[in-house]
Amino acid sequence: MQKNTIMKYIFYFLGTVLLLGQEKPKPEATEYWEPEPVVVTPAQDNLPPSDAIVLFDGSDLSKWRNARGGGEASWIINDNGSMTVTRNGGIETIDEHGSIQLHIEWRTPTKMEGKGQGRGNSGIIFQRRYEVQILDSYNNRTYSNGQAASIYKQYAPLVNASKPPGEWQTYDIIFTEPEFDKIGIMTKRGRFTVFHNGILVQNNVEILGTTEYIGMPKIGKNEISGYMGKNTKKNLYIQDHGNPVEFRNIWMRKL
Ligand code: MG
Repeated sequence: MQKNTIMKYIFYFLGTVLLLGQEKPKPEATEYWEPEPVVVTPAQDNLPPSDAIVLFDGSDLSKWRNARGGGEASWIINDNGSMTVTRNGGIETIDEHGSIQLHIEWRTPTKMEGKGQGRGNSGIIFQRRYEVQILDSYNNRTYSNGQAASIYKQYAPLVNASKPPGEWQTYDIIFTEPEFDKIGIMTKRGRFTVFHNGILVQNNVEILGTTEYIGMPKIGKNEISGYMGKNTKKNLYIQDHGNPVEFRNIWMRKL
């Protein structure tokens, strides 16, 4: 045998010994067991998940107040477990909120009145700054970034998943709050993911700032938006836009 060939065999032999000496990787090496996820009972039969904070279950408005004056929330509670927007101004939760998952059911009036932004308009405004639009967008054209499930004047929904007026619709929304530095400058944008009637319509979009009717979004923590009055608090707010929209089964989970 040639010297080169002998050297080659010795090399292979040593390599094999080295490989055999190594421990084989085990499946357990890439598992972790702690912490264990908390057990939560999922929503069923119109009951929220076991770790949800119920904001409205049809019985009363004790979690809410008038958003204008801070007095009692005086929207009408109906026998069917819903409440209806009345012309007393919007309502807001008594508690402020951070990043949350929100479930809310709503329906616009069967009797169609008005058109465009005037038909079945309301809205859910997170932290009194960022609106997910509620509108009768079933055969009712308006600007795309102002129709139902839009992030108002920022993002149109990916599709129009609207049901006809008079039918109950659902929003399941993941809101990640923006972050600000000590002097109130935004350091990280907030985000929205929205499912409308179970269909993804906003896919983790970056909130550009307050959702203004006129003008550009405001990004400073202490800048006052149209929805806020003199309030810079972070309450969840439902809009009174003059249309008798109904709501039911509202709950959230803190994230
Ligand atoms: Mg609105």
